[in-house]
Amino acid sequence: MSKGFPMLPQAAQAIERLRAAGHEAWIVGGCVRDVLLGRTPTDYDLTTSALPEETEAVFAGERLIETGLQHGTVTVQLEGVPLEITTYRVDGGYTDARHPDGVTFTRSLREDAARRDFTINAMAYAPGEGLQDFFGGQADLSAGVIRAVGEADRRFQEDALRILRAIRFASVLGFELDPETDAAARRNAPLLQKISVERVFVELSKLLCGPGAGKILRAYPDILGVVLPELTPTVGFAQHNIHHCYDVYTHTAVAVDHVPPEVTLRLAALFHDLGKPATFSMGEDGQGHFYGHPKVSAALAEQILLRLRAPKRLREEVVRLVEVHDWPLSSEPRLIRRRLQQLGEEGFFALLALQKGDAAACSLSDCTREDGRNAVETAARAILAARPCLSVGDLAVNGRDVMAMGYCGPGVGAALRLLLERVIAEEIPNEKTALLQSLEEKDAKKPEKKGKKVSF
Ligand code: ATP
Ligand code: MG
Repeated sequence: MSKGFPMLPQAAQAIERLRAAGHEAWIVGGCVRDVLLGRTPTDYDLTTSALPEETEAVFAGERLIETGLQHGTVTVQLEGVPLEITTYRVDGGYTDARHPDGVTFTRSLREDAARRDFTINAMAYAPGEGLQDFFGGQADLSAGVIRAVGEADRRFQEDALRILRAIRFASVLGFELDPETDAAARRNAPLLQKISVERVFVELSKLLCGPGAGKILRAYPDILGVVLPELTPTVGFAQHNIHHCYDVYTHTAVAVDHVPPEVTLRLAALFHDLGKPATFSMGEDGQGHFYGHPKVSAALAEQILLRLRAPKRLREEVVRLVEVHDWPLSSEPRLIRRRLQQLGEEGFFALLALQKGDAAACSLSDCTREDGRNAVETAARAILAARPCLSVGDLAVNGRDVMAMGYCGPGVGAALRLLLERVIAEEIPNEKTALLQSLEEKDAKKPEKKGKKVSF
């Protein structure tokens, strides 16, 4: 195993320096798991028998960041690469389901591994030493299993975030929970209410962007319902509609899988139909309807994202997408220009992607509309390539031109917006003479509307 274990040179260098000073040192946790899976680790964590001050002494002269010192973590920057180096540690008792009451340093790697959450996250590796796998992590990695280290109930009661981490890893890695870990996760799910919303949101975002997100959503409505109680009324909610072959929750899970794995789109897909249970009505035709559900869904999405303290910009983008998710789109250039003006280029393509995912989660006949959506995309790209007029700033006239025609105050902006409307509707070309002439004609027809003319 030691040969052919690809390792970041800076991490290898750090291990070597700690060992040269008489300490044990390993890479540990997520990075070992990722290397064994053939993935590139996002970050490298090291674990060492050295006490924090001993680690600092070894790396004296390097850039050190002491932010995690009370937990035994020193961050060392080697050649620009930050490495988190943590002293072998045993967590003290847990009384609040989220924080250890204290941490104790130990000189035993095994004890450090035992405090880690899952077997696949509890392995350590060092060049020359090979892999240390005390809890069968490698076997679980090969079998695709998430298994708690030690007794699952106790581990989830110590830190309930681990429940969400378990299903997050299952989603991201395409794994399944070992039956005992699964049962304990479900049993202890209510403890998630004690976890800080920021930590919950991080795990939720990663879970949603995993390739197994839809499957995990379908398998764990009970756990997700603790952090997102707004989902619960959609679970099993029949749609009674010819376009829908799934209940609202299943439709949602399938839609999540069918939008690209970006957090904005995945959240928008997750929330887009939250308002359906509250807006359901049965039509005389025997079909279920959900009039006004996008607005209700958007309000619920906003409530959730505020509660979870999601970043403001992300919240606004998600809420907007949910609100407009059923706006008609077609390859008709006038409609595309209007939507581009209303949503911006990014918002337009995000809506298109959301609608594709939504349609893919409806009855089979609806999925065939995919072709139409590809045509919309092609048409929109062609329109954008021609640099269309989509905002007042793109008009061939500006405020000064309009003022020269006698407009002033709010009348200037109103006149420009009117011109923009007419250009988007293709009633007039975006050319200076045509635009000014159009204003003149308007004034001639409705002189009183010109209203705010400058008077001398
Ligand atoms: P990611 O790919 O998200 O970085 P990771 O496994 O590296 O996944 P981190 O949050 O970076 O996760 O944590 C690093 C390691 O610390 C984990 O692999 C695990 O060994 C341990 N760990 C992290 N959080 C917990 C926790 N809540 N309880 C127990 N061990 C944890
Ligand atoms: Mg990590």
